[in-house]
Amino acid sequence: MNYNHIIASQRAFFDTNATKDHRFRKIQLKKLRSLLVANERRLYDAIYADFKKSEFETAATELLLIYHEIDLALENMESWSRQKGVPTNLVNFPSRSYIIPEPLGVTLVIGAWNYPFQLSLAPAVAALAAGNTVVLKPSEIPANTAAVMTSIINENFPAGYFHVVEGGVETSTALLECKFDKIFFTGSTAVGKIVYEAAAKHLTPVTLELGGKSPAIVMADCNMEVTVKRLAWAKFLNAGQTCIAPDYVLVEASAEKKFMDALRKYIEQNYTAGATENYVQIINDKNLERLLKLLDPSKIVIGGNYSRESRYLAPTVMQQVSFSDPVMQEEIFGPILPVIAFTDLNEAIQKVKGLPKPLSCFVFSTSGKKIKQVLAELSFGGGAVNDAVMHISNSALPFGGVGNSGMGNYHGEAGFRSFSHYKSILHKSSWLETNIKYPPYAGWKQRLIRWMMK
Ligand code: NAD
Repeated sequence: MNYNHIIASQRAFFDTNATKDHRFRKIQLKKLRSLLVANERRLYDAIYADFKKSEFETAATELLLIYHEIDLALENMESWSRQKGVPTNLVNFPSRSYIIPEPLGVTLVIGAWNYPFQLSLAPAVAALAAGNTVVLKPSEIPANTAAVMTSIINENFPAGYFHVVEGGVETSTALLECKFDKIFFTGSTAVGKIVYEAAAKHLTPVTLELGGKSPAIVMADCNMEVTVKRLAWAKFLNAGQTCIAPDYVLVEASAEKKFMDALRKYIEQNYTAGATENYVQIINDKNLERLLKLLDPSKIVIGGNYSRESRYLAPTVMQQVSFSDPVMQEEIFGPILPVIAFTDLNEAIQKVKGLPKPLSCFVFSTSGKKIKQVLAELSFGGGAVNDAVMHISNSALPFGGVGNSGMGNYHGEAGFRSFSHYKSILHKSSWLETNIKYPPYAGWKQRLIRWMMK
């Protein structure tokens, strides 16, 4: 399949300058918002068919986030895209300097499956708000969700402006052969490398939103009740299929028993009824089988029960885990929580440093000193203190990874910046010409330039 015709039509439309007009952008974003609102029932049903996810969770973790991103863009578009003045140095007198944000052009957004609306539409909203055209390739895995998104967008927007292309690896591969002005990819680190390589052929800038093993560090001095509640909710939300979920817990040995008791109580109270309204299923057989291989029955202390028929895997906790266990060799991306006890925070930090830089890190403590140490010594995309996952809900915090967990970021203004080029202009007046830089060169000219450039 060749997608050059869609890209050519988007480029032709972009070149009309229509998208550079704020009014146009706002009309499109408002239209998208109204379409999503009008189709909420279809969206809920599609997500339910793919994940057995409740309306509550779909609203909270998918739709509301997209509405919020659209509202923020509508409210701030003018200020984000305003030309901004910067100081001018003496050597350029008389002139002024300014920076003009401009859209990059024709963009490609490739989405992951775990939050299929949000991970496809939030980058698309940022791209449209910044004045780009968008080709969107959502994940093929939640097939019902992808179909509804395609229907909503392709039936209401011209392909030359905003278009969804459905498909899997072959489709992505064919799209990646085309020249885009920006690629925004959300998915695994392995595929992120493929995307980066393909983009390099065209020198296309990329944002890579990838994954990794995000640690939660629990210190003995934390408020244990609150810690466990927040941490377990964040882990088992979407059955652990969340890129920023705590992947594993490092707990201070003196508090391990207290932590485990509180965790057992929380899980028993909230997740014992099987795949219910409040707990989703594993996305497909392949992922369930992958997760089952990570289980070590001798280390399971909570849960471990599953059903292949309903793709259910209970919230599962493994204790006495070591960094060399299979469960510590890859991102879990499911409801298995390994717990590793430590006695020395410095050693725990060194262990985390031995793994690739994670997307998130969470530290639970009441000691400002220990919190400061973790935040200063560990490199990770973003995170939270005394909470987990919730940093994603604040659009003022740029969201993205570092190293193996990605590059670039988005949400709020960061998303707008991700899809913009900042064009620097030196704007000179013609009424004065100092002639210092022109030949014949002379010692006094050099001295003057040196002084001016200080
Ligand atoms: P994935 O990398 O398998 O797929 C992501 C997208 O890439 C899909 O649209 C898929 O069709 C496409 N794709 C798959 N293989 C490809 C190939 N060989 N060439 C080109 N395109 C290809 O990831 P996934 O399974 O959908 O998502 C899970 C991963 O994504 C986890 O690692 C998770 O941590 C990460 N993730 C990160 C974020 C974030 O915001 N940083 C969010 C969600 C998920």
